[in-house]
Amino acid sequence: MSGDYLLRCPACGLAIEDHYTSACPAGHPDLLVTEYPERTLSLSDQPGIFRYEAWLPVRGRLPFTGGTVTYQSSGLAAELGLPHLFIGFNGYWPERGADLVTCSFKELEAVPTMLRAIERTESVLVVASAGNTARAFCQVSALTGIPIVIVVPQSALPRLWTIEPAPGALVIGVDGDYADAIAYSTALAAADPRLIPEGGARNVARRDGMGTVLLDGAVTIGRIPDHYVQAVGSGTGGIAAYEAASRLIWDGRFGGELPTLHLSQNLPFVPMVAARERHTRDLLVGPGTPYTAEAEQEVSAPVLTNRTPPYGVPGGTFDALEATGGEMYAISNGLARAAGILFTDCEGIDLDPAAAVATASLVRAVEAGTIDRESTVLLNITGGGYDRVAEEHALLPTVARYLVSAGVPDENIRRAVITWVNDNA
Ligand SMILES: *Cc1c(COP(=O)(O)O)cnc(C)c1O
Ligand SMILES: [Zn+2]
Repeated sequence: MSGDYLLRCPACGLAIEDHYTSACPAGHPDLLVTEYPERTLSLSDQPGIFRYEAWLPVRGRLPFTGGTVTYQSSGLAAELGLPHLFIGFNGYWPERGADLVTCSFKELEAVPTMLRAIERTESVLVVASAGNTARAFCQVSALTGIPIVIVVPQSALPRLWTIEPAPGALVIGVDGDYADAIAYSTALAAADPRLIPEGGARNVARRDGMGTVLLDGAVTIGRIPDHYVQAVGSGTGGIAAYEAASRLIWDGRFGGELPTLHLSQNLPFVPMVAARERHTRDLLVGPGTPYTAEAEQEVSAPVLTNRTPPYGVPGGTFDALEATGGEMYAISNGLARAAGILFTDCEGIDLDPAAAVATASLVRAVEAGTIDRESTVLLNITGGGYDRVAEEHALLPTVARYLVSAGVPDENIRRAVITWVNDNA
């Protein structure tokens, strides 16, 4: 690389040196964006996500070979009458060279995030998750030995496994839901300077890591696709696709048009779809709205139920949808299930329920004519291959070190976590 990247605040233009920085020091609410020294995308000779290291906020590498596999569909393309349909597959499918072993694109976030953390801070990351994120961070910790503290709802523990032991991951199970896990992790990270919150959508490594799905799509297709289709919970993947496409437009070799974002949620928990319909940045979630904790329990794709997504924040999902003329879709469990079966029949791999939601939204967009049959489409299959990985690997269940009640971490847990950090970091 010809120099170091910078972070920039879009509100005041301040250039910020990265110390795992998540916000403008002048207090602006905008998402910080990375600025890379190379305006044209140079591809490295590395496999997987590190092929795009020039546009990742990292200096070094990790021993990780996984990444998106983009291919042109024939089965689903024929079924939908969409000849220029490309699949960005993120998961486990060895026949196609896809080896994200925890079966979701969360590994594309975990890899640059953990590398950025050891390069830019002395502190240990604390991350809250309802499932896929925790599994991805555990697995990357298992591969690299990088320590991480992970807070999950106890109900998510059965979904946590790795294919190697992960002694560097300290897992805490909270007696509550995802929102309780987020609250607990925030309080824990604030309790000691040796802990630092992972940052979610504010973490540029997460966005630029997810942005490699769009980069891999554009490099494989030869141009920026006309349409980008993804199921969202936080919406971070949509923001990331928008940001990555903007960089490719600067590059100039991949076309000059942003892809239209087609983002979907799973009924009955669809707060971003509702906000988009009302043309407002204000998200209505929680008691007194249709988007309650009970509604969260009813969806087939629990990874799509974030109560505090970065929707209205400057540079967030609202702005990405506005900039690209984007659309949102509310998909029922039944339609998602049918679309998932269709995908598996046509393409030959099992899907994460969230990817089935995205597939259903593609079916709807084509039927409604929002996606023209002659256009070039990138369908982000955000997760899949669970059946396949279980055939190939022994899945080691992740054990929680502490089971705690929701609320603020008590003194004993706090002290035990700090002792663990001192011993492991
Ligand atoms: C996290 C996740 C999503 C949602 O991604 P966001 O862009 O963060 O909203 C979709 N599908 C799968 C499989 C996921 O794990
Ligand atoms: Zn600023």
